[in-house]
Amino acid sequence: QERSFIAIKPDGTQRRLVGEIIARFEKKGFKLVGIKILVPTPEHAAKHYEDLNKKPFFNGLVKFFSSGAVVAMVFEGKDVVRTGRVLIGATDPSQSAPGTIRFDLCIETGRNIIHGSDSNESAAHEIALWFKEDEIA
Ligand code: ATP
Ligand code: MG
Repeated sequence: QERSFIAIKPDGTQRRLVGEIIARFEKKGFKLVGIKILVPTPEHAAKHYEDLNKKPFFNGLVKFFSSGAVVAMVFEGKDVVRTGRVLIGATDPSQSAPGTIRFDLCIETGRNIIHGSDSNESAAHEIALWFKEDEIA
């Protein structure tokens, strides 16, 4: 089965949106097979977003992502990487479609509450960065 790495960012946990976000993935039919909560180190956050390390917002992104509790998850199911991104919505919440997590629950690009893998390759890379294989059901 296809897997995607999904993370609730510190703003999502601080705003008590963990249950809401998990419910949307579960109601769609995806299976939660890995979950943990932790405050990432800045080094871990930088590795997670290493593809963006030349962007002007990189330092702010790393600082924010490591500023509080993150719920790291693995969801499994048919086409979960692409469909998971559809559930999440566009990076900028103001450009996202109604009914998506980002449209419905947040406003700012820099506080967009959730991360989802953007390809099968990045999913495999991110799952390996956050989980040991024996932590996945
Ligand atoms: P994510 O990887 O977190 O799921 P994404 O794939 O939709 O988001 P990316 O291009 O990978 O978007 O950017 C990662 C994160 O960096 C975004 O979710 C957002 O919080 C932040 N970001 C992206 N573009 C900008 C920007 N122009 N200004 C500020 N922050 C940005
Ligand atoms: Mg991304």
